[in-house]
Amino acid sequence: MSAEKRKPVLVIGLGRFGSAVASSLERMGHEVLGVDHDAEIVRDHRDMLTQVVEGDSTEVETLEQLGCAQFESAVVAIGTNMEASVLSVLALVDLGVPNIWAKANNERHGRILQRTGAHHVVFPEQKMGERVARLVNERLLDFIAFGDDFGIARLKAPESIMGLPLVMSECRKKHDITVVGVKRRGEDFIHATPDTIILPDDELVVSGLVEKIEAFAAQS
Ligand code: ATP
Repeated sequence: MSAEKRKPVLVIGLGRFGSAVASSLERMGHEVLGVDHDAEIVRDHRDMLTQVVEGDSTEVETLEQLGCAQFESAVVAIGTNMEASVLSVLALVDLGVPNIWAKANNERHGRILQRTGAHHVVFPEQKMGERVARLVNERLLDFIAFGDDFGIARLKAPESIMGLPLVMSECRKKHDITVVGVKRRGEDFIHATPDTIILPDDELVVSGLVEKIEAFAAQS
């Protein structure tokens, strides 16, 4: 992993989302400074993070004393307490942190965070809700949407293309999707090539417009 990817990250708010972000960053090799105003939460994270401190992130002086101005990336993972979320983002903006990510609980919260100066606003509950809805309804095994209309999905290979090399099944022409990878039971994913023959029980990774992927999955 490059040094670029291991830059220290500040995570403010160690609730369920912040805790998951912080521990994932640690696993990926980043040093993480976690900040929360709840002493019990701080105690619970002592062994998980490089450093965790108790403090009120809405106070710019507190963040300054903690050295937060030195961080290039910060995640504000406070959702329910909207005032604390917005004031924490504002404090980081005032400190000149160049890459501020903030969690929003709804659209309005998201707009306020953007206006306040957050560089990236994420909607974890909403995104996960949409994702689960697709997985439940559309016979997809996994799914990520980019923007409104483009996505990548993992799905069981439809019978109509089984036993054929991909070049002959004409997925692009007939279904307007691209098969990018194939996973065979007990094997790693491989990149799909025109010669790849699709077998029963194969899983495919496909990309394309969401509606096209859903139509392709529906025929499996
Ligand atoms: P979750 O990720 O669990 O869904 P949430 O979106 O409900 O969290 P909150 O519970 O409001 O968000 O806050 C998340 C965490 O941020 C909590 O651990 C809380 O103690 C902490 N927090 C809230 N306000 C502040 C603040 N002013 N300073 C520091 N930490 C704070």
